[in-house]
Amino acid sequence: MGRYTQANCRLCRRVGDKLMLKGDRCFTSKCAFERRDVPPGYKGVTKRRPKKSDRGLQLQEKQKARYTYGLLERQFRKFFAEAERLPGITGENLLILLERRLDNVVFRLGFAGSRPQARQLVRHGHILLNGRKTDIPSCLVKPGDAISWREGSTKSEYYKMLVQEIEGRTIPGWLTLDKQKLVGQIVNLPTAEDIEVKFNEKAIVEYYSR
Ligand code: SF4
Repeated sequence: MGRYTQANCRLCRRVGDKLMLKGDRCFTSKCAFERRDVPPGYKGVTKRRPKKSDRGLQLQEKQKARYTYGLLERQFRKFFAEAERLPGITGENLLILLERRLDNVVFRLGFAGSRPQARQLVRHGHILLNGRKTDIPSCLVKPGDAISWREGSTKSEYYKMLVQEIEGRTIPGWLTLDKQKLVGQIVNLPTAEDIEVKFNEKAIVEYYSR
């Protein structure tokens, strides 16, 4: 499967928003977007972003969502097609499907500082879904599922540091976390209100409806 290989900070600068793809660094003065809020390739820091058409704005919202969850266009379209197929509002369905991805849940549980890091934890086989090693980041979780760590991974320095640090992290209401054992549980499916989005899902639906 294809992989996204561009520098994460370029993506933020391209869409003109902080997508928080680098964990703690995003909150510091080292954030590339804070230092240089111009699209990649712009030489002068004073140059303003060109005004976008309606279509351009819809594309921008779609790209924000895609970059936030780290998906290729082909993968994102599959999620959109599934959101359209489900009953209810397509935009909300899309948000909920994206939020249910295993890598996103690992991030939401505080096991990783960013979604790219969460994806790496899943891909490298550190995470168990209902007691079974699951290294597919796009796997969708459902209520009752348990997310835990592979036993070998609990001996790593990263895991030991996480046990110390996780106390201060907050998790959304649709998840629970045993902070001693680092076992998360899906209590119920997220609703659109549970999801902090930085993009307009209605514009994404309009983008694909043309
Ligand atoms: Fe985006 Fe984070 Fe890079 Fe800032 S540090 S540009 S928010 S990925």
